[in-house]
Amino acid sequence: MRNLLNQLIIGIVGILTIACTSGSLENQEKLHIEMLNVGQGLAFLIKGKNCTSLYDTGPPNSGIDTMLQNRSIKTLCSIILSHDHNDHTGGLSDLDKMAKNGEIRINRVIFSDELFRGDTLADFLPWTARILFPLQNHTLTGNASSVAMRLSDAQNSFLFMGDLEAEQEKSLLELEPLLSVTALQVGHHGSKTSSSWSFLAQIQPEIALISAGRNNSYGHPHPETLAKLSLILQDSTQIFRTDTEGSIKIEWAYGIGMWSN
Ligand SMILES: [Zn+2]
Repeated sequence: MRNLLNQLIIGIVGILTIACTSGSLENQEKLHIEMLNVGQGLAFLIKGKNCTSLYDTGPPNSGIDTMLQNRSIKTLCSIILSHDHNDHTGGLSDLDKMAKNGEIRINRVIFSDELFRGDTLADFLPWTARILFPLQNHTLTGNASSVAMRLSDAQNSFLFMGDLEAEQEKSLLELEPLLSVTALQVGHHGSKTSSSWSFLAQIQPEIALISAGRNNSYGHPHPETLAKLSLILQDSTQIFRTDTEGSIKIEWAYGIGMWSN
C-alpha cells in the first residue's frame, strides 16, 4: 500500500514537473517584430511584453493608423525615426491624429538627431537595443544620416539600417569589424546603392527583410541586391518583401531563436 502511495506521489510530482517545464517554455519572453506593409516607405512595429514601439512610420496615409488599431495597440513607448525623409516620418501626422482622438498614447518620439552611436534604449529589455550609427557630431544628411539600431540577445540579432548606403556600410564595418546579424532590414528598400557585397559578406544575415511599394517607380528592390542576398543567405526563401507578400512577421523567443510566421 505504502509502495503504491509512493508511486502515486512520484507520478503526480512527475506530471507537475512536466506541466511547469512546458509552462515556462510557453511563457518564454518574446519579441514580435513586424515589417508593416506601408507601401513605398518603412515602418517596423516592435512589440515586447511591456512595450510596443515603432522604428519609422512609413509615408503619410499608408494605413498605419488602421494597422495599429487592428493590432489593438493602445500605447507606443517610443517612435524611433531613422532619418528625416517623408517615406519614414510621414506617418507621424496620422499617429498624431490618433493621439489627439485619444485612440493611442505616444510616450515619446525620438528624432534621428537625438540618437548616436553608443546610445542604448531600455524599451526592449531584456533585449539589448544599441545604436551603431551615426557617430555623434556627424555632418551627414538624408539617407546617409539614418540611425542604425541593433537589437540582440546572446544568440541572435536584428539590424535596422534605415536608408543607409554603401559608403556608410563601410564606415559601420570600420567601427564594427566583427559585426554579424541574424535578421537584416535591407538598407534603402533594397536599392542598388546599398547592401554592398563586402557588407553582406561580413554580417552574414540569415533573414533579409525588404520594405518597398508594389511596382514603385524607383525599381526597389534592385535585382542586383536580390541576387546578392540569394547568394549570401543560406536559405533564399528567407528573403521577405512587403511589395510581394504584405506585412512580414518575425517572432523572437529570448535566448532561443527567431523565425518568420
Ligand atoms: Zn526610404
